[in-house]
Amino acid sequence: MEGSHATTTEATGAEGLQNKTAHQDRAEELGWDFNAIDRSPEELCGIILDLLEQNHVCEVLQISREELEGFIGRVIPRYNTTTFHNICHATTVLHSAVMLAKHLDISSVNRLQHVGMVLSAILHDIGHEGLTNNFHINSKSPLAVKYENQSVLENLHAELGTELLLEEPSLLRNLDPDERDEVLATLHTCILGTDMAFHKAQMDMLKDLGAGKIYEGEEPYERAILKAIIHTADLYNVTKTFEVSKAWATRLQCEFNAQVAIEKKLELPSLPFMESSGLVALAKGEIGFITFVTKPWYEALAQAFPEVNKLPLLDNMST
Ligand SMILES: [Zn+2]
Repeated sequence: MEGSHATTTEATGAEGLQNKTAHQDRAEELGWDFNAIDRSPEELCGIILDLLEQNHVCEVLQISREELEGFIGRVIPRYNTTTFHNICHATTVLHSAVMLAKHLDISSVNRLQHVGMVLSAILHDIGHEGLTNNFHINSKSPLAVKYENQSVLENLHAELGTELLLEEPSLLRNLDPDERDEVLATLHTCILGTDMAFHKAQMDMLKDLGAGKIYEGEEPYERAILKAIIHTADLYNVTKTFEVSKAWATRLQCEFNAQVAIEKKLELPSLPFMESSGLVALAKGEIGFITFVTKPWYEALAQAFPEVNKLPLLDNMST
């Protein structure tokens, strides 16, 4: 309909997101150290709903809050009860991404891209069974075969997420085809960007931006930045207060140990850091991860986007 299309264009134009701060109270209220563990499913659903609605999802997609709630109700059961890659993790990534998007200067991002980014955050690990890409590749699993050993899990999450969004009546039905494609392309880029295989390439891009170089990547700049935000949010583990970080690290160690048990049964190789157990190994592993992965990443991010220093990421990492 002509009328509804006009409304969509108005709602999704590239007018920037200058007014977003007035709507993001829930994220601020929860604070950077928000801990999603031990929240009831009802509480998590309410938090996800507020965060998505306050990030323009209902407005841009022209859907009601009730419809969005129904969608979240379909997303939550698609997450498994693995110790780490579960709905609590996805909620934390969504919250962290919203906080980062709020504090970083991403004024060239339009509302369709912003909506694609927040939807990717809540969908980015959907269907995760607590097994890594390496496991799928080594065991020649049907998923590894399907995705030809390339970003096996990330391709799965992007596909499942897209399917859920397009399931009739599609959440994207009020967008015109170009608008729908923009949301889905952003979603796809952001989810694929959570594959650690692209970590170095993404860090190089941030370093270039930090050094004042003009962005020359293949994908649009806005999508590349949103992808970096989702990857940063996915690495939240060591950026929270010590107690919250420890709880998540313990859960990840449990998930790794469970995978190692399966690998032993199937006589598949295991990575040494996934075999380790106990608090000392946990602490050693975290220090190594901070030193070689997350600290250089956040330093590159802070060079490209100094505003990120308003969040206690680096402070928390060093305590
Ligand atoms: Zn994740």
